[in-house]
Amino acid sequence: MNSDFQRLVTAAHYAAHQHRTQKRKGLNEEPYIVHPLEVARLLSTIGGVHDPDVLIAAILHDTIEDTSAEKEDILEMFGERVCEIVLEVTDDKSLPKAERKKLQEEHAPHLSPEAKQLKMCDKISNISDILENPPKDWPLERMIEYVDWGERVFAGLRGTNEDLERHFDELVERARRELGA
Ligand code: ZN
Repeated sequence: MNSDFQRLVTAAHYAAHQHRTQKRKGLNEEPYIVHPLEVARLLSTIGGVHDPDVLIAAILHDTIEDTSAEKEDILEMFGERVCEIVLEVTDDKSLPKAERKKLQEEHAPHLSPEAKQLKMCDKISNISDILENPPKDWPLERMIEYVDWGERVFAGLRGTNEDLERHFDELVERARRELGA
């Protein structure tokens, strides 16, 4: 049986490989893998989450949605619990974008506590990216809309991790100040 450290570094390597051709949509075009690693880091350092399955799921959270990774690959390599958490935060890409965004709002309150905390960090990472390193073709209104939507999804995740909630609230306050919204 692999140790948790082995599983964690294997997940980091696997996700880096799966996302190898993708970049974040911000101006500085960071490699995509920076985002899932940041989600895991936020969970651990701010959220105080030390459950290896949750940290592994965080590293893998966009692989099924955005790469060639299949559910069966994650299941086989990292086990059922990791796979379940990843699936909970995976959007159905066959649906139009507006529908997917609406569904995130509707699904948020029904996620497991593990998936809720992962999703909190996903929203924190995405909103801080919008502030630090905005996509070059996004007008101000689109950034404000994104923060508004993030807040609506986040509302359904509350009650599971006070430290992450406080961090998110401070971030959104700063976002509103900087975007003048
Ligand atoms: Zn993500």
